[in-house]
Amino acid sequence: MEDIVKVWSKVKDIIKTDLLEVSFKTWIDPIIPISMTPQELVLQVPYEYSKTIVEERYMELIKNALLYITNNDYEIEIRIQDKENERLNMPAMKINNLNHLYTYDNFVKGDSNILAHSATRAVAKSCIEGTYCEYNPLFIFGNPGLGKTHLMQAAGHYVLENNPEKNVLYVTSEQFTNELINSIKDNKNQEFRDKYRSVDLLMIDDIQFISNMPSSQKEFHHTFNDLYQNNKMIIISGDRPPKELHGIEERLITRFESGNMHKIASPDYETRIAILYKKAEQLNIEIPDDVIRYIAERITTNNRELEGAMKMIVSYHRLMKREINIETVTEALADFEKTTEKKITPELVIKNVEKYFNLGDNSLSSNSKAKKISQPRQIAMYIMNTVLDMKLKDIGDIFGGKDHTTVIHAVRKVEQEINSDEDKKNMIDEIIKNIKN
Ligand code: ADP
Ligand code: MG
Repeated sequence: MEDIVKVWSKVKDIIKTDLLEVSFKTWIDPIIPISMTPQELVLQVPYEYSKTIVEERYMELIKNALLYITNNDYEIEIRIQDKENERLNMPAMKINNLNHLYTYDNFVKGDSNILAHSATRAVAKSCIEGTYCEYNPLFIFGNPGLGKTHLMQAAGHYVLENNPEKNVLYVTSEQFTNELINSIKDNKNQEFRDKYRSVDLLMIDDIQFISNMPSSQKEFHHTFNDLYQNNKMIIISGDRPPKELHGIEERLITRFESGNMHKIASPDYETRIAILYKKAEQLNIEIPDDVIRYIAERITTNNRELEGAMKMIVSYHRLMKREINIETVTEALADFEKTTEKKITPELVIKNVEKYFNLGDNSLSSNSKAKKISQPRQIAMYIMNTVLDMKLKDIGDIFGGKDHTTVIHAVRKVEQEINSDEDKKNMIDEIIKNIKN
């Protein structure tokens, strides 16, 4: 077995290239390797919070580097040097929760995202300079995996790099809601408000999850107004444009629409190629041009999948020692497709709703007006509209050419029921969960 000190120094050399110098010095340099068996590497860090940060942000990098050097998939244990030390030595530094890879440098610009890109950049600049910004608040939307989270966090990094004093906060709308609920439970509502109202740049990701949560929406509305009036910057992301969001108060929608809105679309061929080269560079691997083109022709709609495919190919190469060529990549992609999320279809929705209500096959597609059938049918319509994002007309067609007003009536009715009836909401959440599983 190689000397543990040597291995660790090689690991450091590799991950150094992936990190900002300051991150490397703060989190990686102080790590001391303690022991190594063929299965496990034990590392020591100075404080409790270093353990948390290393585990949350750098574990994957460390493991990948180890895999690369030793060809071995190590378990890693992290120990704290001296628990007593912790409070005394806590440095006065801000710990942000941004993914260190989601920077502008790592973001590939193309027709599909250039406007959203420049808008986030303008918001970040105004935040740094404390000037008025016509793009504020900024709302970016688009399908999953197209770079919304990456782009908004890039704005956060950019602000902090240029002015570390600024208070930058990134949360998903789910985190916002959970924090709000906890603050109410623990009687810490004032703390919650102070926290959110003291930020210079607030990023709220995936706003659609705040649907049908009236108290979160109310709180967010207040936060929003406070920040906006004080010329603080706000970036919001969602999976669709504001006016198509369901179960969100009208006054919030109006707020979202009051600044600038940009869609991120699926990447074109050139952008896909550029993203693949960028990911290869990040993963420290050389991929022949014909292979890059081959992947870009096959994976066309989603940047996250481009990245996933690339990782699969890297593991074929590093773990199985396979040369990277079209043949290997064909196999790797087939493997990758098996692991990607299952596709939700209207048929799947119908099947699950029928099953949930113990109805026979195809009963929802019948013309029956009996309550026992019509209510589940309305729920299926609601799910197709909100989860699958299907057009009203297409939903009507699936149910034997029903008029779009019938569909909109169904969607509104279910929406109202969810808002006023907790049990109904739970029921529909459960059906959606079944569909996704
Ligand atoms: P979303 O939030 O829209 O679902 P993410 O921002 O999480 O998408 O992006 C998914 C993955 O694809 C991330 O790993 C991200 O780094 C990568 N990605 C997306 N768009 C780009 C881009 N334009 N350039 C480089 N990487 C990208
Ligand atoms: Mg996201």
